[in-house]
Amino acid sequence: MPLKLYNTLTRKKEIFKPIKKNFVGIYVCGPTIYNYVHIGNLRAYTFSDILRRYLKYSRYKIKEVMNLTDVDDKTIKGSQKERVKLKEFTKKYEKSFLEDIKAMNIEMPEVMPRATEHIKEMVAIVKKLLDKGIAYKTQDGIYFSINKFKDYGKLSRIKKKALKAGASKRILKDEYDKKNINDFALWKFYTPEDGDVFWETEIGKGRPGWHIECSAMSMKYLGESFDIHTGGEDLIFPHHENEIAQSESATGKKFVKYWMHNGWLLVDNKKMSKSLGNFYNLRDIIKKNYSPLDFRYFYLTKIYRQRFNFTWRGLEASKKAYSRLKNKISEIKDDKKTNKEYLRKFEKAMNDDLNTPKALQILWKLVRDEKAEGKIQTIKKMDEVLGLNLLKKEKIKLPKKIEELVEKREKYRREKNWKKADELREEIRKHGYGVEDTKEGSKIRKL
Ligand SMILES: [Zn+2]
Repeated sequence: MPLKLYNTLTRKKEIFKPIKKNFVGIYVCGPTIYNYVHIGNLRAYTFSDILRRYLKYSRYKIKEVMNLTDVDDKTIKGSQKERVKLKEFTKKYEKSFLEDIKAMNIEMPEVMPRATEHIKEMVAIVKKLLDKGIAYKTQDGIYFSINKFKDYGKLSRIKKKALKAGASKRILKDEYDKKNINDFALWKFYTPEDGDVFWETEIGKGRPGWHIECSAMSMKYLGESFDIHTGGEDLIFPHHENEIAQSESATGKKFVKYWMHNGWLLVDNKKMSKSLGNFYNLRDIIKKNYSPLDFRYFYLTKIYRQRFNFTWRGLEASKKAYSRLKNKISEIKDDKKTNKEYLRKFEKAMNDDLNTPKALQILWKLVRDEKAEGKIQTIKKMDEVLGLNLLKKEKIKLPKKIEELVEKREKYRREKNWKKADELREEIRKHGYGVEDTKEGSKIRKL
């Protein structure tokens, strides 16, 4: 069974065929680095990581590009509020973002371009669109005329008529001279509110619009046509629709072959929002005593395309399941064989548009199958994709008190004082730790 991926462009699962043989170019809409990324962002990057890992597992050479949006309204406002330079402000959140993805075992993309370092490329596209008469200047910026792109709406399936009707109600006063309310800014001319954030360019003094950032950076590193573009469902319109419009208008070529989107993240069945107090980031998760990999496991229990309802109870269940899984795996002996049958089933699940819940089920079945051979090597292969560090031994940090008890008990064991040793085992148990005696010494685990 070949790999099938759901393509938002066609609303179908399609057999995956890259443009170039054995090579896949992927663009992931990265974070705006003005704050800690929230758990909805982390769902998107966990999804693109699974995609990337599975393509690698399927022996494709990968080039993944994930941009960092380090200039837009939010980053400018944030830096002004803290009275620091934009660069200094975004550096801090870039760093925390990299820490977060590392903690969640999300592999580093091959390229992570920053928007502010690609202004030249953005200006070149805008110039092209101006020359072709597709973009036009107003008092406050340069806009893309959606009426000049006949395929506008092909990704989101939004009709131009519907756009006009909805839009007439909300004309903003500073956008009065736009030809169509849905025309979007490619370039924003400088205003005093931008402070010291601006670029002097051939198309005027100012800064880029958000959409053009992604077109410029993706095409620079992946070419004018590339294989896969991912992002959250909320980016389909207008962000990705606009990326298509400006890129295809500039090049005359098909921009992206497969568009892939992960579903919304809800928290307790509600939209995440600051006012509801359900706006979480990875630090909140860790504070409540969940590891980033408990959290990763939690995300893998659902199909990426479905809406995901985050609850603390759900995360607790995943934490328990993940810990049980790792405990069971730690007891399996490695016979150096591979179990092809289970691996085939696992691949079948993944080939069906990255069905990770099904893949986890197969992993669990293998772990529980007492007759199965080749468990460890097969789990190792599966974990290349799942990224759950299933074979990594957890070093638990023991409280001082427990450490002392364990040491004392080992002394009794060396003296063959089994009665005292057993008493101490019981005492350690009362503190919530289990002791197992192995040839290498005692193994402690949290109960
Ligand atoms: Zn983007």
